Parts: sequence; C-alpha cells; structure tokens
Amino acid sequence: MARARDPIADLRRIAFLLERANEATYRVRAFRSAAKALAGLPAAELTERAGNGTLTELAGVGDVTARCVAESLAGEEPVYLRRLVATEGSDLDAEATALRAALRGDCHTHSDWSDGGSPIEEMALAAVELGHEYLVLTDHSPRLTVARGLTAERLRRQLDHVAQVNAALPEGFRILTGIEVDILADGSLDQDDDLLARLDVVVGSVHSGLKDERSKMTRRMLKAVANPHLDILGHVTGRMVSSRPAGVTGPGDRGHRARTRAESDFDADAVFAACAEHDTAVEINSRPERQDPPKRLIRRALEAGCRFAINTDAHAPGQLDWQRFGCERAALCGVPADRVINTWSAEQLVTWTHNRT
Ligand SMILES: [Zn+2]
Ligand SMILES: [Zn+2]
Repeated sequence: MARARDPIADLRRIAFLLERANEATYRVRAFRSAAKALAGLPAAELTERAGNGTLTELAGVGDVTARCVAESLAGEEPVYLRRLVATEGSDLDAEATALRAALRGDCHTHSDWSDGGSPIEEMALAAVELGHEYLVLTDHSPRLTVARGLTAERLRRQLDHVAQVNAALPEGFRILTGIEVDILADGSLDQDDDLLARLDVVVGSVHSGLKDERSKMTRRMLKAVANPHLDILGHVTGRMVSSRPAGVTGPGDRGHRARTRAESDFDADAVFAACAEHDTAVEINSRPERQDPPKRLIRRALEAGCRFAINTDAHAPGQLDWQRFGCERAALCGVPADRVINTWSAEQLVTWTHNRT
C-alpha cells in the first residue's frame, strides 16, 4: 500500500496547532507522545497495525491518535486535523502582518532542559518550518528552581549539545545560544560572568519579589539594564492578564484557571531611559497571558528611543507562532521594524550583542 500522507507529520502538525491555540498541555502531549512512539516503527508494521486495529497496544498511542494515523495512511487528512485547521487563527491587519513578515528569528524560547515541554531539536524544527533563520534558546537560570533552571555546569553541557544539534540542522538556520537569566533582588544576574559573556543573547527577567516597592524595583532594574551582559529586558512588568503559564496545566484545570498578577511598580521612564542609554532592548512578550509590556508602556519605551525584541517566550513548538500577537500590539503602538532587533539577521544580531559586552 502506497503511503499518501505521512501520519507522523500529521500528528506533529496537530500538536503544533493545539499548542498555538493554547490548549491544555495534556491534550498536546497525547499527539507528541504518539508521534514519538510511532516514529521508531517500521512502515510495514505501522500499516499492519493500523489495518488490524492494534496501534493502541503501543505505549503512547490512544484511540484518537490511532484513528488519525489510520486516516492518514488511507490518504485522507485526519478529521481532527481538518477541524483544527478550519477553526484556527484570526487575521492580522496590514501593519502587523508586515512587521511579522520582517521578523527573522525569536530571541526568547525554552526547551525541556528547563520548564519547556519539548526537546531543543523539536523547537528548532518548528522554527525552521515557520521560516525563521534563527532561534535563541533561553532556558532559565539556577535560582529559578521551580523551572529547573540550569546550573553553570548544565548550561555548559547545553552549549555543547546545541553545537551538535546545529551541525545537523538545515543550511541557513541556526540555534543561537542564550539564557533567560533571573534579575536577582540586588539587580545582579543569576549566572557566571564568563558564561554570560560566551552566550549569543542574554535575556534578563524579574521572576521573584515582583511586589517589591517602587524605589527598590527601580534600582534593581536599573542595575540590571546597565549590566553590559544584558541584551534584552524580558517581560518588563511581570503582569499576568489571564489564563495560565505554560507547563502547569492538567486535566483538572480545563486550561482557564484564573491567575492574574498586577504589574510590578517601578519608574518606567527611568528604566526605559536607561535601556536607551545602554542600548538594551525592551522585550515585547507575545504570550497571551502576559501581553507585557502593556501598550501604554510600549509607547513610552518608543518615545524614550529604545530598541525592541518581539519574542514569544515559547515553551512548546506551536507557541513559536505567537509572535503575531506581539506584532499586533507593537503595530498598534507604531513600533517601526527598524527598532526591532529580531528583524536583523543572526549575524547582525550576534555582532550587536557581542559589541555590547
Ligand atoms: Zn520569564
Ligand atoms: Zn521565558
């Protein structure tokens, strides 16, 4: 029997679309696990098992995923996939579309080395499929233990691993090394200086003490922004407007548990002035539950002369397509493409970051 479609590719596509639609993690996992379980199976056995209904005997393959595989092998687009495609997405206006088209990479992403859900290879593959030229891998730093932050030793190992993965990736695409480093209470950065200097891109974010009083938080952020290792100031206010963070969903929560958080209090004009002075980019974080900074602060950063990075902060491959949300907000605020550092090529980006340190 000739295989008209690739069932593994269909399962991966479904997982991607579910992630992009911000569906609960367990639902996505069913498709990613099935794709992984079936990828190692000889084609003949796959066909035979689909024919006699024994795919579900394999660990990681359930009724729904087995049905998708059977449909795919029969040359039909799986019904599950067809429904997802038919109901997905919204249209962007012309300015947001142009800005999105100008982006050549993503500077804030996570893998399963910290609190992401997928291996580095899978994230990179999804970025290639989106048309990116690069993906900056920015797993968490040691103190963020809840997110399995990387010690200096694990980060060094990750750098070796990334070099290997890069060697196997298509020409014209590469993973850039990076970190989302915690900005500690005193404004210092939570990783060794020599490692920060070695990385291609350093995103720094506040993840603790978000309720610090105004003058303390301002001092903390000003010190971080002035640090020559810091390239991008991540999710500036720390707010959560809705929904849930990635990676903590389960069958019980239906994916819509209320978990909002107010913006932290700091002197935004002082921080943005410092970003402009030190040429530190302000992140426009695209995550639906963050939408950080709020539009009024994007406008102020723009007036202050800051550069921006429109990032996804993706914790799963499908979330890499969330840049559109950040572009929408940036376009509404009138952010021009030439102020956005991820419109640059990987070469330009790395030249910029290395000249800063
Ligand atoms: Zn973060
Ligand atoms: Zn992050």
